[in-house]
Formats: sequence, structure tokens, C-alpha cells
Amino acid sequence: MRDETCIFCKIANGDIPSSAIYEDEWFRVILDLGPASRGHALILPKNHFADLLELDEETSSKVLALAAKVGAAMKKSLGCAGFNLVQNNGEAAGQTVFHFHMHVIPRYEGGPRMVSWEPGSPSREELAELAGRIRQELE
Ligand code: 5GP
Ligand code: ZN
Repeated sequence: MRDETCIFCKIANGDIPSSAIYEDEWFRVILDLGPASRGHALILPKNHFADLLELDEETSSKVLALAAKVGAAMKKSLGCAGFNLVQNNGEAAGQTVFHFHMHVIPRYEGGPRMVSWEPGSPSREELAELAGRIRQELE
């Protein structure tokens, strides 16, 4: 389940060297080349899935536990105060590499503001209408 044209397939399977911090049967975790903060890591499945919607059950059942393990190790080893998990799906959401990956971004006391947004102010009616639409699709 590899895509020969995909750079993250090559990195995840060790064909291209990377700053790896963890590896097991399913994943390689590497440091991001363009980090948002010191120690920013990417969890890469060894199999190719373009995004979350393609991820198989086995991989998706393991990825969050691995993110917790990486985050805990970052807090101990780097002294970060917290961390963000970011996982972009689709170009409109900021995805630039179309091989599923989860960002683990260490956050330091007094560090820059990131992964944030200006809260909107929808009316109750608008929220009810939106909730109805999405709920219908989930049924
Ligand atoms: P996305 O925007 O798709 O969620 O994130 C892609 C991430 O991959 C970016 O943060 C970018 O810096 C990182 N990246 C892109 N190419 C490489 C690479 O060849 N090696 C590493 N380590 N990171 C990469
Ligand atoms: Zn791939």
C-alpha cells in the first residue's frame, strides 16, 4: 500500500533519510523540516493514505495513542508546557502533502500564538440549521 510518487511513503519507509524519533510496524515519527515550534513532529503511517478519510481502521485506532506518547515524551525531553495535534485534510484545510500525517506541535510558555481563530457569532437558528444538516448525513 505504497505510492511510488509520494515523498512521505519514502520517508516513512526509510528510503529517504529523516530526523526520526520513533518507529514501529505501522508508523515512523519524524521532525518537520519547517517546524512551527522547536521539536515539531509528524506522525507518518508506513502505508499510503491520502488523508483521514482514506485511513484504515487499524491505523486510525493506533494513531491517537501514539500522538499521546509523542506528546508526553516532548513534555519530558523538551520542557514544553503543552502540545497541539493538527491534522489537515484537503488543500482548503492547508494540506500540502497528500499522505496522511498528524502534526505534534510542542507549545512553550510565552511562545507565539498559533493554531487559533477569531470566534464567529452564529445565531441560534443558524446553529440549529447547520446541526440538522450534518446530523442528517451522519444518521
Ligand atoms: P501539511 O501542510 O500537509 O499538513 O503539512 C506538511 C508538513 O510537512 C509541513 O509542515 C512541511 O514543513 C513538512 N514537510 C514537507 N516536506 C517535508 C520533508 O521532506 N521532510 C520533512 N521532515 N518534513 C516535510
Ligand atoms: Zn504516501
